[in-house]
Amino acid sequence: MRLLQEKIKNDGQVLSDQILKVDSFLNHQIDPALMLEIGKEFAKRFANEGITKIVTIESSGIAPAVMTGLQLNVPVVFARKRKSLTLTEGLITASVHSFTKQETNEISIAQKFLNAEDKVLIIDDFLANGQAALGLIDIVNQSGAELAGVGIVIEKSFQDGAKMLSDQGIRVESLARVASLANGEVTFKSEKVE
Ligand code: 5GP
Repeated sequence: MRLLQEKIKNDGQVLSDQILKVDSFLNHQIDPALMLEIGKEFAKRFANEGITKIVTIESSGIAPAVMTGLQLNVPVVFARKRKSLTLTEGLITASVHSFTKQETNEISIAQKFLNAEDKVLIIDDFLANGQAALGLIDIVNQSGAELAGVGIVIEKSFQDGAKMLSDQGIRVESLARVASLANGEVTFKSEKVE
């Protein structure tokens, strides 16, 4: 997605060969106009899948997920990383190891918001090693719902997640695919001369 690539080039900060910081439009401050375009693009790519629900994880997946839900006219459920005081029973849970924070969290979704009639599109901000996506897929599978695919705003293609999910037969649609962050520079996959 051209607009997103330009935004990453102009406003993204390469923190290391592994980490891209995009807190000016996605991870802290949010660019609503860009999120709307992202929502339209995901909605277009999954238009014929009969999606009934979007599933994401707090907090950075929520903005792109809500815009996608708006376009597809379906509800959005976000997995919580902390236990809620008002939400203690009927939870589906999974373990997720965070790449950036180097810690393992239990994530959960209330059973009542996902069921076997649902066809789910998972949305997240980044795909690195795929642990967050695997946790969400685990929850979707436990609920009995069907998984249509995974929509990612920024895929770091040099890490294992995308290949690992594709190898499992899961459809992954990434709007920007970063081939490398070497030398402080973002190189996109489509730009690379093969
Ligand atoms: P994974 O579970 O695929 O290894 O990592 C996905 C999660 O880690 C994303 O939800 C995102 O929060 C975080 N993450 C991974 N790599 C990056 C990165 O380069 N930059 C930022 N801002 N977050 C990242």
